[in-house]
Amino acid sequence: MESVNGKSILKGIAIGKIKFYSKDQQMVARKKIDDVETELARYHAANDKAVEQLNQLHDKAVAEVGEVNAEIFEMHAMMLEDPDYVESVENIIKNQQLNAEYAVAQTGDNMAAIFSAMEDNDYMQARAADVRDISERLINILSGKDTDQNAIDEPVILIAEDLAPSETVQLDKSKLLGFVTHLGSTNSHTAILARTMDTPALIGVDIKPEWDGKMGIIDGYHQVFHVDPESELLETLQKRQQDDAMKKQLLQELKGKDNITIDGKRINLYANIGNVSDVGSVLANDAQGIGLFRSEFLYLESEDFPNEEEQFGAYKRVAESMAGKKVIIRTLDIGADKQVDYFNLEHEDNPALGYRAIRICLTQPDIFKTQLRALYRASMFGNISIMFPMIISEEEVDEVLQIVEEVKAELREAGVPFKEDVELGIMIETPAAALMSEELAKKVDFFSIGTNDLTQYTLAIDRQNPKLDKFYNAHHPAVLKFIQMTIENGHKHGAWVGICGELGADMELTETFLRMGIDELSVSPVSVLPVRKTIRDLDLSK
Ligand code: PEP
Ligand code: MG
Repeated sequence: MESVNGKSILKGIAIGKIKFYSKDQQMVARKKIDDVETELARYHAANDKAVEQLNQLHDKAVAEVGEVNAEIFEMHAMMLEDPDYVESVENIIKNQQLNAEYAVAQTGDNMAAIFSAMEDNDYMQARAADVRDISERLINILSGKDTDQNAIDEPVILIAEDLAPSETVQLDKSKLLGFVTHLGSTNSHTAILARTMDTPALIGVDIKPEWDGKMGIIDGYHQVFHVDPESELLETLQKRQQDDAMKKQLLQELKGKDNITIDGKRINLYANIGNVSDVGSVLANDAQGIGLFRSEFLYLESEDFPNEEEQFGAYKRVAESMAGKKVIIRTLDIGADKQVDYFNLEHEDNPALGYRAIRICLTQPDIFKTQLRALYRASMFGNISIMFPMIISEEEVDEVLQIVEEVKAELREAGVPFKEDVELGIMIETPAAALMSEELAKKVDFFSIGTNDLTQYTLAIDRQNPKLDKFYNAHHPAVLKFIQMTIENGHKHGAWVGICGELGADMELTETFLRMGIDELSVSPVSVLPVRKTIRDLDLSK
């Protein structure tokens, strides 16, 4: 037996025969041509065919892994039409009188080298892989090769040096038990696809072609790949795999079902996301909406303030992908544990009690207004609600609402379309907000209780400090009292009330929350079906 460590992309077990996925690194011949026009026509015909293939792949991916994850194929199609790319290929054919295959290979290599040399490593490496991928596709078409040469005809664990997104999506998923690669990053499109496809996968494994045909096990829980496993280990992991399958099977049956108790109490069950790419998993787990989009991740991933267009694009994509389902986007919650260099925040002795979230937005209204403009513009493309974090007073809400009105007036004046009646809510995550919830409820459409911070501030326990774990009681009666109070006060004045902190997925408390009258729970995508099961097993009349 051989056991090799890697990085897990999706926790799960896959057991089966190993297949080595060999990239047909074809040598592209360099040939002189006489007829430039014919060669250019060959290139353009191949380009059209590549675009057609990518459109088909896009449609297949939309059906299998959702709109957001399918975008990569749209991007590849666009790269094929990129003027720099096209011009470079045409110039090599025209000026050097060389064959189209060679011109494409040369252009692909040159552009990939440029991307690889750029600084923003992960992103640019991915673009380099993309340009290689489209060039390979063109060469295959030009040389009349079937791109499906690595088709799998029996269930296998695929091992490969690297897998491009287009290769991943072309694999027959009914036969793909899992995959193991040497290259790739946990944030690559391929990794995202693996997660969305729910396929156990490891990256960073020193794979060996001679493993082909042997028995392998991906243990995503321990991040290990076993080759020729010993029988005892095989039995243990087979058992774990069966348990996983049984749990998943049971939960799958709950897709499309209502979040309703036996006695008829119905609530909304939404999912939390931090990134546009998380939408695939929201849809795969059948959440009814997004209850918390932590928009600060757009800022954390950037090297400078994301501009209005970038933000608009991200919010629009999420809204469109959710196709009319509710998407609650929280305005930026930077500060405390979420530090961003370009905000130039000063060192603070107590950052959790410091300059963060709405406090930054209200003192730097330009940053706030840019985000609000992007949000209102995106409101035209779906069902967006906006939520404000770390509120402590009525005055703050008044100020926020005034800025919102200014933004709306500016958009109106500029003739930019937006929805006038976007639902507005606040997070209840400070003891002050919970205590003032009756007054606050008169000013907003909804409350979302952030139990992570509400617990930290109520118990005076730093949520970041592992030493305090034994004192951190998420079920502390003081926190539960605040939740109860917030729900009652919200309802008194027509505001609906949800929970988007981690406690929302704590199934020991689902019954308590329902009895308190909670209207919505927003949990991580993978928790949606387990929480739905808990709700459906409850009978509140008892
Ligand atoms: C919370 O505080 O409960 C919450 C949902 O916000 P975050 O975890 O992003 O602070
Ligand atoms: Mg919070």
